[in-house]
Amino acid sequence: FEAMARSASAPQERSTMMIAETQPHGEPLTLVAGGAGFIGSHLCAELLARGKRVVCLDNLQTARPSNLRHLEAHPNFEFVEADIVNPLPASIVDRAARFERVYNLACAASPPQYQADPEHTMLTCVVGTDHLLRLAETSGARFLLTSTSEVYGDPEVHPQREDYRGWVNCTGPRACYDEGKRAAEAMAFDFARMGRADVRVARIFNTYGPHMHPDDGRVVSNLICQALSGREVTIYGDGSQTRSFCYVSDMVEGLIRLMESDIDGLEPINLGNPEERTVNELLDAILALIGRSATVTNLPLPVDDPRRRRPDIARAETLLGWTPRMPLSEGLARTCAWFAEEITTCECEEGM
Ligand code: UDP
Repeated sequence: FEAMARSASAPQERSTMMIAETQPHGEPLTLVAGGAGFIGSHLCAELLARGKRVVCLDNLQTARPSNLRHLEAHPNFEFVEADIVNPLPASIVDRAARFERVYNLACAASPPQYQADPEHTMLTCVVGTDHLLRLAETSGARFLLTSTSEVYGDPEVHPQREDYRGWVNCTGPRACYDEGKRAAEAMAFDFARMGRADVRVARIFNTYGPHMHPDDGRVVSNLICQALSGREVTIYGDGSQTRSFCYVSDMVEGLIRLMESDIDGLEPINLGNPEERTVNELLDAILALIGRSATVTNLPLPVDDPRRRRPDIARAETLLGWTPRMPLSEGLARTCAWFAEEITTCECEEGM
């Protein structure tokens, strides 16, 4: 995996780990696009634990190959390196009939990363989703799109219900992602309306946990890594803006329940933890866990940064019987412990 990630040129199907050779021919497969990423890697692990045969498709743009290290040897796991912006590789298309589930988690999702190549972000959302929807149409697989709370923009309605149409700036720096996801939703619902695919759409709110990229620029990873390494912590604006943080295992459970539910696929479903915190409160919780104080550097609030965000999860509770279980204190403790280990490992590897 590391060798793949380092390689500069990227033909569509550079490398395939064909663990599937041991799979009986014709067994149903689950495709997880974006499966090497933060949430995707946990989803792959959970699906394998539930006895599924998983094909993970990822371009390794923002994913960490190490997220999959513990899955490499699993007999039901296969990794395909490809970018969904391009036509899907032969190893997927040739087995289209075997796919029974297609999860689309493939997209850079933290603001600095999705803004680094905005054209690619937009194409990933729109063209990439089209490729996966067409695969689902061909194979008869059920398709789940991971959309985002960003479709609500800087919301004027609080908390956000699925029927709120959002307040999004289509000319701003976040538009490549939030308008991209809105277009992806539109396309998924059109496939559903036309009977071309059985579709589910999850709107994911802020999620955290192990396997986040230490450099992805999100508030949880930034503050934990800065505090653990004794650096100044960065608060954008005055830290009074709010987010609601969902632990990754709760999110994965919600995604699988949504995929397996018999709900009418023509409505999106919010998935997130409705406990709302200011960024300052998040920092206090992290510092208390790590047992350190920190110098705070206040940086300018990014353009179009939402002031408040909290999901209304009544639909998920009613239709999926899903509610997040992990308290923030416990989830942060697990995340801090994981980052502490990661930072030590990174420092050791750098020193070698
Ligand atoms: N933020 C912050 N310090 C950081 C990174 C982010 O104060 O080092 C703020 C950011 O401006 C936003 C909130 O934390 O108000 C959540 O940011 P994140 O990038 O995690 O996700 P978003 O919800 O904005 O997509």
